[in-house]
Amino acid sequence: MNQLIYLDNAATTALHPEVFQRMQPYFTEIYGNPSSIYSFSGKAKKAIEEARCEVAAFLGAKENEIYFTGGGSESDNWAIKATAFAYRNKGNHIITSKIEHHAVLHTCEYLEKLGFEVSYIDVDEDGVIKLEELKAAIRPTTILISVMFANNEIGTIQPIKEIGEIAKEHKILFHTDAVQAYGHLPIDVNEMNIDMLSASGHKINGPKGVGIMYLRNGVRMGSFVHGGAQERNRRAGTHNTPGIVGFGAATKLAKETMEERAEYEKNLRDYLMERVMKEIPYVKLNGHSTLRLPNNANFSFRFIEGESLLIMLDQKGICASSGSACTSGSLDPSHVLLSIGLPHEIAHGSLRITLSKETTREEIDFVVEELKKIIERLRSMSPLYDDFLKEQSQK
Ligand SMILES: *Cc1c(COP(=O)(O)O)cnc(C)c1O
Repeated sequence: MNQLIYLDNAATTALHPEVFQRMQPYFTEIYGNPSSIYSFSGKAKKAIEEARCEVAAFLGAKENEIYFTGGGSESDNWAIKATAFAYRNKGNHIITSKIEHHAVLHTCEYLEKLGFEVSYIDVDEDGVIKLEELKAAIRPTTILISVMFANNEIGTIQPIKEIGEIAKEHKILFHTDAVQAYGHLPIDVNEMNIDMLSASGHKINGPKGVGIMYLRNGVRMGSFVHGGAQERNRRAGTHNTPGIVGFGAATKLAKETMEERAEYEKNLRDYLMERVMKEIPYVKLNGHSTLRLPNNANFSFRFIEGESLLIMLDQKGICASSGSACTSGSLDPSHVLLSIGLPHEIAHGSLRITLSKETTREEIDFVVEELKKIIERLRSMSPLYDDFLKEQSQK
């Protein structure tokens, strides 16, 4: 069977054909530098401002609060580093969670080396941040709270509004990495008291290498990329016109289809979860049962090596992930799975399946059938499973 079943939409998504179509002229005919004066460039500039308008509308923000960047990682770096540097005279303490994306975690670790202090807040067994612990961590020197909107591995959605309230009450800036939530869940930066927000094009059927940072007016903050005067002097570099146009088009499409898409993905995801939990023994569902991204399922299979599972699924044309794409290069189990309290050996046997609106029920049925066979086969080769069965039979 040579079909491709793509179930790794948290890692990246397919560029929507309509988005591609909107981008195309800006690669070829409309190539003028948007910062130039002549009217030929005005076309590119106008397209960028239209995209900015789409993004602002999705977030309930003002247009001059949206900055285009080179992706989600850059936006996270910018928000955290620039806040740290701009507010250094106020304090040197940052609060984040233990389950952030590496773009946030590694940035915080870098700042620690420069003398900043960072509190990494625990999550409960469902992956929800412990609000009491967060409140208790606040110091007079706290300048920033950075907590992700929804987790990329286990899909858990955080109590963003509550965190925003806590931050506002204590006059601390609040940044959220919303890369997994943007275009998938409703977001209102004012209602949620968000001061900074990161999102990325390629997670919403848009292009790779383009992202946004929402930055509330009035937040004192320096530029991240120094150079020209682009993006109100805050993010230098000639605009990636096709990318930005694509981001805007993807946002518009995501907004229009969000409700219906979430409903479709959630139904199919629930069907997948139900079948896996019922038909495969010794499995655990990771993440919250209801407060989770509509397209995310994450399982841990006992006596299984996630890596072997992925390879065998790949042989059937199935693309999935065992934790985050960024951690698959290392042998350590994912920091997210360890943070929700999974022992190493169970965390190692995890599988993340993330659906899209293109995923069909037939594909899910095929995946479940293959999973059953593969897991049985892998377990039949596992000495640990063998010992476990012997132990069970002696009881
Ligand atoms: C993908 C992802 C990022 C990184 O975005 P890029 O555009 O790939 O740099 C950051 N945070 C989360 C939660 C993500 O899922």
